[in-house]
Amino acid sequence: MVGEDRARIVMTPEEKIAKRFAVRSHAVPPVNIEALAEKSAKVEYVDFPTDADAVTLHLKSSTRPIMLVNSKGSPLRKRFTLAHELGHIVIPWHVGTIISHIDRIVRFKDDAYTAIEAEANRFASELLMPADWIQGVIQGSHDLAEVFRRLSAAKTSPQSMSIAAFRQFPAGYAYAEVDLNGVVQYCGRSAGTEISLPDPGDILDHSSYDACADDSHESSNGARSLHWWHFRKRAHIPSVSADKREWREILDGMLADTGSTPAEVKRIKMSLSGVIGAANGRDHDGTVAGLVALLKQRLVGRENFVDLLRHKDFETFLVKRAQGILAE
Ligand SMILES: [Zn+2]
Repeated sequence: MVGEDRARIVMTPEEKIAKRFAVRSHAVPPVNIEALAEKSAKVEYVDFPTDADAVTLHLKSSTRPIMLVNSKGSPLRKRFTLAHELGHIVIPWHVGTIISHIDRIVRFKDDAYTAIEAEANRFASELLMPADWIQGVIQGSHDLAEVFRRLSAAKTSPQSMSIAAFRQFPAGYAYAEVDLNGVVQYCGRSAGTEISLPDPGDILDHSSYDACADDSHESSNGARSLHWWHFRKRAHIPSVSADKREWREILDGMLADTGSTPAEVKRIKMSLSGVIGAANGRDHDGTVAGLVALLKQRLVGRENFVDLLRHKDFETFLVKRAQGILAE
């Protein structure tokens, strides 16, 4: 993964505070967050009647802060919660008593509360997985599997790890976590990535993403599976010169194999030419490899094309289609 464009990160004030705090505390991954929290507060684990992750009292008061942490979360979630609560203690403008919810997809009615929770999350992320450290891992790894394995050393949840890592990936990276039934729990993309992703609650057909991606990695903890994909700016393309068929013939063959009805064939062909036409109007580098890469990103994740994407002739079709477009 060395040599790719880097995403440019501008650190927020709370991330700079976390970075300074980590240096002062000699904290490096895997951070002993339990010890750090206990240095700054009295920490108690409590069986909460609500879905809150923690409550911290006496912020910026003369009394030593008390951190009450929900005992129900997983060990990785509790580590993130401790780092988040430590953020409330260290960030100067977080005062009084704060009830914490660390889930980052949730927005609260109160904008000020949402902002404070997001700040504490960013503090926690930078403390547990420093941006510089992540950048070093990305630069020094050969593929997504190696990035994942090395980032796992920070002992944070797959979701916080994905958010922190994907912020630094260049365009072309996406992730999704699914439950045992394949239902998407959360997903995301690096900046500039155009791949369509399902919404949380939808079923993920990961095989079509795997088929189109240039690199993919899956990790599972039994109940949940996390998928990471990388789509290059230029696809690795197979040699298609031995195949004498034209792209139209290959497309008809694939549609016949997938058992599509005449009405479906018509609909799929129309939407395929729409997507391909729109993609060709966009920025690409004018090479077959560049256009095939763009087409893959545009087609993956769209329900109409799931069977086509998995077909053995799909790549040959795409290459021949791209050659045709570029020859026009
Ligand atoms: Zn909080």
